[in-house]
Amino acid sequence: MRRLPGVLIVEDEPAIAELISVNLKHSGFRPIWAIDSATAQAELDAVLPDVILLDWMLPGESGLTLAKRWRAHPRSKDVPIIMLTARTDEVDRVAGLDAGADDYIAKPFSTKELLARIRAVLRRRAPEQDAGVVTVGALSLDAATYRVVYRDQPLKLGPTEFKLLHYLMTYPERVHSRSQLLDKVWGDHVFIEERTVDVHVKRLREALGLDAGLMVETVRGAGYRVTSV
Ligand code: CA
Repeated sequence: MRRLPGVLIVEDEPAIAELISVNLKHSGFRPIWAIDSATAQAELDAVLPDVILLDWMLPGESGLTLAKRWRAHPRSKDVPIIMLTARTDEVDRVAGLDAGADDYIAKPFSTKELLARIRAVLRRRAPEQDAGVVTVGALSLDAATYRVVYRDQPLKLGPTEFKLLHYLMTYPERVHSRSQLLDKVWGDHVFIEERTVDVHVKRLREALGLDAGLMVETVRGAGYRVTSV
């Protein structure tokens, strides 16, 4: 089983912490609640979380002080911090970001927005971690172990086909033009013809086999997409 990303919630209001925790659990995160700065520091010393949600106004040390300290410390400097606060002034927001926060969300916030922000900082901070396993319908791809599985059957793909599928599966249902794919999958497409994409899509479909191959769709006049149907 994959490890659930841990989110340290530093918040002195139990009702807010509880609301956030419940929503995080439902969305596949592992919330850890710290009611004050001392508890937060102890949690951080014990296990490094994947993200920190940090309230600005805390009894004792403020969220701003904590953010500055954690950013300065080698062990915690790369952990994304999202500041939670009722302060909405531009000056305060700048102060939060200056202290090393990755993002800032004003109370009251929607939990949906908070979750979106958490996912965004995780993507920005650790793209390789985030890119672990992608699943579309019965097809799943694990970038870490380099495996592609369809209906529990492992499939063999060449390196370019693997990269191409990985990219398409990361954005399911979205149509990508040939030039976009060259740019994202091949990197530098100056000397590569767009027809190259067609060749690799054909190979990809063959490698995926009859059923899974259908998931790589041609969208006439636009490009290609991966779809779950
Ligand atoms: Ca507070």
